[in-house]
Amino acid sequence: MPFTIIPEPALIRKRDDFLEFFEYTGLPVIEGDFQKEASVLKEQFAPRAEPPHSPAFSGTDAARKIVCKKDEALKVEAYALAIGREAIELRAGCGRGAYHGLQTLRQLFLSGEKIPCAHIEDEPRFGWRGFMLDASRYFYTVPFIKKLIDALSLHHINVFHWHLTDDQGWRLPVPEYPLLTDIGSKRVERRLSGAPSIGGFYTEDDIREIVSYASARHIEVVPEIDFPGHASAILAAYPGLGCTGGPYRVEDRFGIFDDVLCAGNDAIFGLADAVFNTLARLFPSPYVHIGGDEVRVTRWSRCPKCNKRLADTGLKNMPELQSWITVKLVSMLAEKGKTAIGWDEVLEDSPRYMLPKEVVIMSWRGADGGKAAVKRGHPVIMSPNTEGCYLDYRNCDDVEEPGQWSVSTVYQSYSMNPVAGMSESEAALVMGGQCNVWSEIIYAGRIAEYMIFPRIVAFAENMWTFRKDFANFAQKLTVHRQRLDMLDLVQYRGRLK
Ligand SMILES: [Zn+2]
Repeated sequence: MPFTIIPEPALIRKRDDFLEFFEYTGLPVIEGDFQKEASVLKEQFAPRAEPPHSPAFSGTDAARKIVCKKDEALKVEAYALAIGREAIELRAGCGRGAYHGLQTLRQLFLSGEKIPCAHIEDEPRFGWRGFMLDASRYFYTVPFIKKLIDALSLHHINVFHWHLTDDQGWRLPVPEYPLLTDIGSKRVERRLSGAPSIGGFYTEDDIREIVSYASARHIEVVPEIDFPGHASAILAAYPGLGCTGGPYRVEDRFGIFDDVLCAGNDAIFGLADAVFNTLARLFPSPYVHIGGDEVRVTRWSRCPKCNKRLADTGLKNMPELQSWITVKLVSMLAEKGKTAIGWDEVLEDSPRYMLPKEVVIMSWRGADGGKAAVKRGHPVIMSPNTEGCYLDYRNCDDVEEPGQWSVSTVYQSYSMNPVAGMSESEAALVMGGQCNVWSEIIYAGRIAEYMIFPRIVAFAENMWTFRKDFANFAQKLTVHRQRLDMLDLVQYRGRLK
């Protein structure tokens, strides 16, 4: 009988015996190190009143044990499992590895089938295995985000990139700028009769709850604030930060808009400073994503302040002003101990204000941005929209499938190679990859689930394993789908290629 573990572990050696887990109603006693991680596994199997109604263990099974041991020889996310007839030994170098090992066991327990005695050794291929959720175009609830984070962690995804601001809504409370949430978090949907106002924002308590929930599951939460484009919600709240002074509104249309933050107004850096202070206080991650994508210079060109800035800085043209802003934001973050991440547009810099090498480039317009970035010595995260990383695209080429723009198949999510066409030294700069869900038309957590699963499952195996094999994955998926069902996740069930 094959082992159904996703992502595929680095090494599995089976023996003839079995841990006949399905006969037991209790979760094994978990002894030794890593009790924090063990308590999360217990929580995951605790009976609950609300969905997801995953199979629960009614208590503990005193005859079975999971013995957790710290083993300094193992790398940071690595773990080893020795599954015997009555006991399982889990070794890991730190909590991250221990958590991954326990999630591998969680998969086996969820299936409730015979578990072969075996020795498993495992470690990831890439260190950044990310997932991005756009909470601006659609405002997802805290319970949904927690459910999603828990499901991601079952597959060893370790970064949750939280897209918190955009033209259609600002979701982060900033004490010095209360109108960002008072005005910027709500929009009027004019397509609907009665023009209802929709939206919302996360309170500091909400954010702390999500960060701590993710951290217990060894997922790092990376916030994104989009500067200087995708700024309609900011401008609706503080019209003085735009070139024309408005009037502006929180957008209910989708697309790229001419109105962006005024490059000639120093007050935009006052705003950025307050926002970064809030982020530094609430998010322990060393990274802050500053967006930087899809910035139009239409307004800058006709703005006296922006033209004065251009003259003062000695830059050649308006697009170079964006790199001037980006470099300033990057150094402001550095002073707060944070490293900036930007979409690949930030690479289009000016020779006068070169992007510092530590800025991480997230390659989304295909892989070209990432390939150019490693040549310049930047760390890179690959998230090409052309290769299965955009989960708001349709699962297959069928107009009856939900999704926008294009197609990303499960097979593509499985196949994207973040280091394709790179030399060894270039590939060493690739931190890993990421899948993104933009939520223009994903207006419910249930629809998001359908777009995310099982593509993220394929992507997780792609980023983690050294032993990729799509045929094997497709076979494992038939078993794994039942686990996703148990976690009450809606999933796409059509063709994979
Ligand atoms: Zn301006």
